[in-house]
Amino acid sequence: MTLYGRMPEIPTPRPGTRLEIAAGDWQFGRGQDPGQPFTLVVSETRTALAQHYGNEWVWITGHAEDCADDHRPCREALVRTAKLRQTQEAVSAAH
Ligand SMILES: [Zn+2]
Repeated sequence: MTLYGRMPEIPTPRPGTRLEIAAGDWQFGRGQDPGQPFTLVVSETRTALAQHYGNEWVWITGHAEDCADDHRPCREALVRTAKLRQTQEAVSAAH
């Protein structure tokens, strides 16, 4: 057993996944208005830092929907992992 084995698993949405995140499901973001829902197109899920939040929150970097594909991720947010789990299940169910 590892130290982190008891924490919930962190879903890692694949790059390009479009996440529609409710206002209460993210915090500490960059590139969008606080307290508003927003859409994030995933670039990277940075699971290494999630242990600091008991794996209940994870940093995700990405882009807005209308971003051109010519720059490094311009948005990031600390997203509730429970929200990601719902999204993953929805994706699985659709296939
Ligand atoms: Zn961008």
